[in-house]
Amino acid sequence: MNATDLRADILKHLEFSLGKDLAHATLYDIRMALTLAVRDRVVTPWFAATRATYAAKSKRVYYLSMEFLIGRLLEDAIHNLGLMQAAQEAMTSLDADFAAVLADEPDAALGNGGLGRLAACFLDSMSTLGCPGYGYGIRYEHGLFRQSFHEGRQVEEAENWLRQRHGWEFERPEAAFQIGFGGSVSEAGKTALWTPGEAVIAKAYDTPTIGWQGKWANTLRLWGAEPVRAFDLAAFNQGDYAGAAGLEAAARTISRVLYPDDTTDTGKELRLKQEFFFTAASLRDIVRRFQAEHSDLRALPTKAAIQLNDTHPAIAGPELVRILHDENDMPLDEAILTARATLSYTNHTLLPEALERWPEALMARVLPRHMQLIERIEDTHRSAYPKSAVRIVEGGDVKMGELSFIMGHKVNGVSALHSDLVKTTVFAELHALHPDRIINQTNGVTPRRWMLGANPRLSALITDTISSGWVADLERLRELEPHVADAGFMAAFADAKRANKVELSNWFGHEHGQSVDPDAMYDVQIKRFHEYKRQHLNILETIALWTEMRDNPNAGWTPRVKIFGGKAAPGYVMAKEIIHLINDVATVINADPVTSQWLKVVYPPNYNVSMAEKLIPAADLSEQISTAGKEASGTGNMKFALNGALTIGTLDGANVEIREQVGAENFFLFGMTAPEVVACRENPEHQADAIKASPRLKAALKLIEKGIFSDGDDKRYKAILKNLRKHDYFTVCADFDSYYDCQRQVDAAYRDADQWMRMAALNTARSGWFSSDRTILGYMADVWDIKPMI
Ligand SMILES: *Cc1c(COP(=O)(O)O)cnc(C)c1O
Repeated sequence: MNATDLRADILKHLEFSLGKDLAHATLYDIRMALTLAVRDRVVTPWFAATRATYAAKSKRVYYLSMEFLIGRLLEDAIHNLGLMQAAQEAMTSLDADFAAVLADEPDAALGNGGLGRLAACFLDSMSTLGCPGYGYGIRYEHGLFRQSFHEGRQVEEAENWLRQRHGWEFERPEAAFQIGFGGSVSEAGKTALWTPGEAVIAKAYDTPTIGWQGKWANTLRLWGAEPVRAFDLAAFNQGDYAGAAGLEAAARTISRVLYPDDTTDTGKELRLKQEFFFTAASLRDIVRRFQAEHSDLRALPTKAAIQLNDTHPAIAGPELVRILHDENDMPLDEAILTARATLSYTNHTLLPEALERWPEALMARVLPRHMQLIERIEDTHRSAYPKSAVRIVEGGDVKMGELSFIMGHKVNGVSALHSDLVKTTVFAELHALHPDRIINQTNGVTPRRWMLGANPRLSALITDTISSGWVADLERLRELEPHVADAGFMAAFADAKRANKVELSNWFGHEHGQSVDPDAMYDVQIKRFHEYKRQHLNILETIALWTEMRDNPNAGWTPRVKIFGGKAAPGYVMAKEIIHLINDVATVINADPVTSQWLKVVYPPNYNVSMAEKLIPAADLSEQISTAGKEASGTGNMKFALNGALTIGTLDGANVEIREQVGAENFFLFGMTAPEVVACRENPEHQADAIKASPRLKAALKLIEKGIFSDGDDKRYKAILKNLRKHDYFTVCADFDSYYDCQRQVDAAYRDADQWMRMAALNTARSGWFSSDRTILGYMADVWDIKPMI
């Protein structure tokens, strides 16, 4: 493919798809014309993959997820198709700024954080490996809210990614299903007939997901909700315009907006409807596709593997049983076994507040037939294990974790530590009954986006050093290890990191009016705000360090830039106060002439995938400081290590495996282990004892209390202070000294620039295991029983 052909196609789309003449084309027009020209080149491999799957009568994987945090797609597609040079040349020849064209694409923010980003990395790896499959989710009209700061406080605004045409999708008006809610159930022989009281249409929108080198493409099928009847014409004719449009508005509400929190169970009826809406539409589509080729539904598990990304699609269990039993007359026991052999479930959290439960009464009202079937499923389980106390329905609630476990043939945790905790805590009783069901598949990230796309400088160096095979076989990064002893390689590695830091500093400068010294250590904590992730531990340490610098200005401080990024759920008051505190502390510290040569705090608003792609390649230090036992895996931690940042972290989630892979000597470990945290909490005075034992922590809390960071307002942070001093469930105080001391070891290590860079290079060389290709191969072998098609 050469630039001339691509250019001709861009001009053709500009004229015939966008109706614009080059002389009047805006940045949007150019971007859309390039998008369509690139998309054209995805279609052929996409069709070929579909045909090959049909021809082989292959099993398919269906990944059901409420969230797909995919970000921008254009640059990724250009890389995967090998069109980078052609696209650059075509843009130059049209006098367009290629970087600006790429940056014009809005992020598709159809997810909150790690869980949704994992789903996006999995789509990329499935296409790269030739694992035939579909991602299924919701086409939210509004993705995750846009964040800005007003006087340091988070302000949320509706995100509007569909205001412009979405260039990647294909609308499928013919692929539409009516999805019902409510109504009644009547007996119909051995089965039952559900007559819903209301209904909406689920309409499909397909986005092809192209794999590395364009060898395979799968489909991300997102469902949009539409009214069954568009409009009440009688009401309109009587002048009731709002009433006339009411039907439509009510139906569209279902796919209107992403719930901005995946760490608490909202228990809202609309959320239940969203979950059923996309799950039911996806199952109808899956069964339709199966029945187009096969007649006996008992063979469904040999042709379809359905993965539930957390419990959000857990209603797939009873819905699939309903389709098999009520609609296709399969005996109930057999329907349950068939559904179980088809379904499997990924657990993402042990936080009790995040484990979904639905009030039985609500479930019975919204999904009356499903409530009956949930009881049948529970009865079946109870008769198989009469001594077991496990219940799906308990205390008036339907527990979706138990339902998913019982309806899945495999249940996986997302890191080794987390999978062990799944066995010993939330699902201990179920694990005893089904000892082979829980397995581990440690998460991963796609190297196409998180190295090749995000870090072109380091990628070029790696390719020059070990050739290009690493992009689809990331373990080959190990071949870099011998080069760590080579001064030439190490100088080039350091140059790439420095250039990334200069670029980030420039971006800080023109976007946020605050450039920073590229020779300072870039210390980065970017992730959703949650008390368990402990951004407040980081800012307390920042305050303590600042105090120390003022007291000892001649101590030879290592210059640092503390970089934060992340959003808090709009209803999570404590997380929002932590954001406010960080911004307040930044204002004071950044204005201090004594310390400004050593310490800066930067917090750009609206962290998203595109911002992660800028920050991670420039990071020196990766903050992974959650309370041990609380972060199921983390994937941000993997992106950083891959890009040559050293981790300061606890033994939590995949940090454990990162440390094993990169070597304990290349990882800054601090804090209590998961069992130590549990033991610590047995002392109700753990926080008071820790504060008493740490003059530094005590002083930092005192500065906040005195209003040093809040213009003398000594009340502003009362809630945070009270929480830390009285409860501190997340053991910030008990881990503080260990963290502070570890940070001083980090300071010392950074002063030996050559040694630091060697450790950084070893992190890159030893992070190949964290490719999501490895994760997907694990699912294919251990859960889905499917072989790659390429
Ligand atoms: C990778 C990623 C996450 C997950 O980060 P963690 O540190 O693992 O919580 C969240 N949001 C975005 C935008 C990401 O790219």
